[in-house]
Amino acid sequence: MARILVMNIPAYGHVNPTLPVVQELAERGHSILYYNTEEFRDRITRTGALFRAYPEPMPTSEDITALMREGNLVKVTRMLFALSEHLVPFMLDEVERERPDLIVHDSIALWGSIAARLLRLPTVASISHFILDSRELSRTKRETLHLLWRALPLMPAILASRRRLAQRYGGGIFQKEHLLPVLGDLNLLYTTEQLQPRSAMIDDRFRFVGPSILNSARAAEPFPFDRLTDAPLVYISLGTVHHTDVGFYYTAFEAFRSYPAQFVLSIGPQIAIESLGPIPANFIVRSRVPQLDVLAVADVFVTHGGMNSIHEGLYFGVPLVVIPHQFEQLFNARIVKKHGAGNILGDRLPYAHVGAGELRAGVQQVLSTPSYRQNAQLIAQELQSTGGYRQAADEIEAMIQGQIAEGLLCAGK
Ligand code: UDP
Repeated sequence: MARILVMNIPAYGHVNPTLPVVQELAERGHSILYYNTEEFRDRITRTGALFRAYPEPMPTSEDITALMREGNLVKVTRMLFALSEHLVPFMLDEVERERPDLIVHDSIALWGSIAARLLRLPTVASISHFILDSRELSRTKRETLHLLWRALPLMPAILASRRRLAQRYGGGIFQKEHLLPVLGDLNLLYTTEQLQPRSAMIDDRFRFVGPSILNSARAAEPFPFDRLTDAPLVYISLGTVHHTDVGFYYTAFEAFRSYPAQFVLSIGPQIAIESLGPIPANFIVRSRVPQLDVLAVADVFVTHGGMNSIHEGLYFGVPLVVIPHQFEQLFNARIVKKHGAGNILGDRLPYAHVGAGELRAGVQQVLSTPSYRQNAQLIAQELQSTGGYRQAADEIEAMIQGQIAEGLLCAGK
């Protein structure tokens, strides 16, 4: 059996898809050491992996969330380079001591890729986003200028960090083609080839394993399913990064208080439900809902367009109304729209500025146009026919077998 070392970043969207994969590998008898911050200890331990903490100081998931909320991905890149300077020496010691056969790293956990390259270990990258083609990054002059305007002031700090790492460990620690994502010898994408737009980056090292969904790997969330009626069910959630957008919840109340449908609204743990004031009678508001179970009975999903949410909605054949809150969610939204499985509200900068009339019309359009649901159901068939977390585990095992065949690992270890 193999000894696998996993390095991730402290962010739920990146950790969650890996948990079913790690659980599956642990159940197949492999020994897994999973590095992240204390905040993730319980979730990781539940899978059967051994949890290991990164040395402090580390950002919390909320720190990373705050950067993502700002929507400036270059700030995230700057943080990842600073973290690499902090974590590479630690990880080199750990890897030398633990002697894993294989390293699985998140596609933005740069330190994982650097440590593996230095110690010449095979790598698997876990990629919990679509591969963004550079053509998609700047659709309009306005978007290009906006991206440049925000990126340029941060570039000197990133380049200085990169230089320090290269001076210390050699220039060969970086990929030549691009800073991020960092690719592995094998790259797991939690989507399908049909949904991923063409990209020159994708080659035969990539595997489309589909969404890594395992309801039993999630904590149980109580929910009053007995309150649901036969009326159309609209589920609304802004995920775990943008759920503090209270203004949007008031817009939803205004848009739908007299609309003939029932609404389930997830607002996240940071806003007290009572602080929202009177809640329309056709709304059930919760801090957190069992999203997979609600999607299984929903007619429309109003979502911010997070990678997990769009795949979960489409997995259940639910058409989407996407209200992107940051750039890569807009990218995701455009994929949904291209496949006719939903529409986008606010496809322009600044994102997420949607009025009550526009929101009501957007939901009405999806509810009353059968093609949205039909297309979502076609995608559901594709998504459900992927192997998901089991296929991811198969791919990792196949890689281990390949290493054994090449004499790089010992069989039965
Ligand atoms: N989620 C959930 N219950 C909620 C709200 C969210 O289970 O009430 C889960 C949802 O199923 C998804 C994740 O939180 O797996 C949100 O991830 P996504 O990538 O969509 O958005 P992010 O939070 O990263 O922006």
